[in-house]
Amino acid sequence: MIVATNILVTRSSMPSLEEYVNEIKDIWQSHWLTNMGVKHQQLQKNLIDYMGVEKLDLVVNGHLALELSLQALNLQGEVITTPFTFASTTHAIVRNGLKPVFCDIDPVTYCMDATKIEALINDHTCAIMPVHVYGHICDVEEIERIANKYGLKVIYDAAHAFGVKYNGRGIGSYGDVSCYSFHATKVFNSIEGGCVCHHDDEFGRKLYELKNFGIHGPESVEAVGANAKMNEFCAAMGLCNLRHVDGEIAKRKAVVERYRSHLEDVEGLQLSPIQEGVQPNYAYFPVIFDEKVFCASRNEVFDALAKIGVGARKYFYPLTSSFDCFHGQFDVMETPVAVHISKRVLTLPLYADLALEDVDRICEVVLRCGNK
Ligand SMILES: *Cc1c(COP(=O)(O)O)cnc(C)c1O
Repeated sequence: MIVATNILVTRSSMPSLEEYVNEIKDIWQSHWLTNMGVKHQQLQKNLIDYMGVEKLDLVVNGHLALELSLQALNLQGEVITTPFTFASTTHAIVRNGLKPVFCDIDPVTYCMDATKIEALINDHTCAIMPVHVYGHICDVEEIERIANKYGLKVIYDAAHAFGVKYNGRGIGSYGDVSCYSFHATKVFNSIEGGCVCHHDDEFGRKLYELKNFGIHGPESVEAVGANAKMNEFCAAMGLCNLRHVDGEIAKRKAVVERYRSHLEDVEGLQLSPIQEGVQPNYAYFPVIFDEKVFCASRNEVFDALAKIGVGARKYFYPLTSSFDCFHGQFDVMETPVAVHISKRVLTLPLYADLALEDVDRICEVVLRCGNK
C-alpha cells in the first residue's frame, strides 16, 4: 500500500529567509525599487559571467523577453517555429503580427527537426524560433547554417535551458537572440523574470527602450514599447538563487539518476537522450509512454499518480497549434511527430529537494500501471 502524499511537479528554489532579507536591506536606504537599480545591474553582470554570453538584458518575465525581442528585430511575415512548446512561444509570434509556421519535431530530442526547416522557407519567411525543449539542445549548427543561407534571424526560446552548455559554450550564445525565463518554476528563478542574450549593441539599445515604454529620452518616445523592467526585489531573489544554482542542479541530477535507475530499459518507455557535448541542467523528467508495449497509456499513469497525490504534468499537451484561440487556423497533422509525442508524454515531478524515496515510490506506481 502506497500512502498518499502531495508532491507537485515542481517546487521553487529559495534562499534562506536571512539571506534574502540581507540582500534587500539596502533597498530601505536607497528607496530605489525598480527602473534598473543596483540589484538589477548586479544581477545582469553576474548572469553574463555565469551564462557565458556576450550581452544580456533583464526583463520582467520570459514571455516579454520573446515578445520584445521579436519587436526589436523589426520582423515581418512568417516565423518557423515548433508547436511542441509552452503557449508563450507561439503567442509572442502572433502578438507581434507575425505568422507562425509549424515545423515538426525530432522524435528523440523533441526539439525542432532541423532537417524539416528548409522545406518551409518561402519569400515571407523572416525568422526561425526554435525551443530547447526540456533543456535538450536544438541542432544549433544546422539551424545556423540554414539561417545564414537564407538570411533569417534566429531567436531561441531558451526558457528550459538555464545553465546548459554545449562544448563548453553557454547555450544562450547561439542564434541572434536567446530568451530565458526566470519564472518560479524554472531551474533558476527570480520569482518572475527573464533575460535576453544577444550580440548586438543596436538591438540591445532598442530592447532596453522597448522594456521601458519605448522611451528614448526625457522628451522622446521612439517606439510603442511595453513595461518589462525587472524590479529590485526580483533581482535580489535572482542574486540569492544564483549563488546556489550549481548546488540545486547537482541535486536535480541525483533525482534524475534515481528515476533513470528505475525506468531506464523498461520496454515501452522512452526517456530523455544523453546529448553528446552537452552539460545538462536536469530541468525536467519527461517520459514517453508507448501504450502498446508498456500496456498502460500516459493518461492512465497520470491518473494513477494523481490518486496518490502526485502531480505529473502533460507537458506539452495540447500542441499550441491546436489551441482553441487558433481554432481552424492550423493543421496539426502537418506535424505528426509532435502530435504523437504530445499524446504520450508525461513529465514526472522533479526539483532539487525531491526525496529519493519519493522518486522510488513514484516509479513503483508508474511501473505497476504497466504491470512491470
Ligand atoms: C516558462 C516558459 C516561457 C515563458 O516564461 P515566463 O517567464 O513564464 O513568461 C516561454 N517559453 C517556454 C518554453 C517556457 O517554458
